[in-house]
Amino acid sequence: MLAMKPRISIVFVVLLAAIPLSAAQGGDGVDQADAKAALLEAYPGLFTISGNTVTWSDGATMVWDDGKARTAEELIKSPDIEDMFHYVYPTASAGDLIPDVDFDPGRIRNEAFFKKLYGASAAAVGHHLTTVKWLPKLGKYPVRITSLFGVDARLSKISNALQEMPADMSRFGLKPGGGFNWRVIAGTDQLSVHSFGAAFDINVGYSDYWFWNKPDDKGRIPFKNRIPLSIVTLFERQGFIWGGRWYHYDTMHFEYRPELLLYKEKQG
Ligand SMILES: [Zn+2]
Repeated sequence: MLAMKPRISIVFVVLLAAIPLSAAQGGDGVDQADAKAALLEAYPGLFTISGNTVTWSDGATMVWDDGKARTAEELIKSPDIEDMFHYVYPTASAGDLIPDVDFDPGRIRNEAFFKKLYGASAAAVGHHLTTVKWLPKLGKYPVRITSLFGVDARLSKISNALQEMPADMSRFGLKPGGGFNWRVIAGTDQLSVHSFGAAFDINVGYSDYWFWNKPDDKGRIPFKNRIPLSIVTLFERQGFIWGGRWYHYDTMHFEYRPELLLYKEKQG
């Protein structure tokens, strides 16, 4: 009997190795069909996805999933397109949340994909920029933002709704940090979504930013937020996600990422 033991173990290990990953999921747990459907629905008519290839209408191709396993840091630095769905974005309806360490849904962005969507240079992005009068009843806040995907009209709708809210709510929109700004994210060489005119910062005076806070004695960055979830809901209804759902939080920051909201909806 003793002699059988190692053999049983070997058989067990072989069996484990032979269990295939679910065809629906990549190694990182992304639901492939839902993620592809969400991306196609978010930016209709611009590209197709067949197997592992994203093909743009001009014939350019990109890899959907390069199969590489990445650390949290690598996901931020050099993700493939599929990696953008690595974390499921929790909408405002989930209530107040303190994000887990490195849980950054929306901070993972494939830069080549965004350049193809919005333009690969400040000049190219500039062709699509327009000015939205933000909270026109409450002040003069012109915001430079892209007109692609109706982002400008969406921001106007948010503005209309917010300026009709009581002053203790609309104050969160006053003195906004702005929209278009071709720049890299502080401390990185990656372009901010502000570079594409697809992000907007609300009142800087109520902002909390992970980088301004020292980690606690366990190495965890303490979570801080002063933005009410009812404001977040206004943005989410128009396809924007909120930087207050990130471990590396940026609570004044909203960016147009309908694919993440659609993916969340499909994931339930
Ligand atoms: Zn921002």
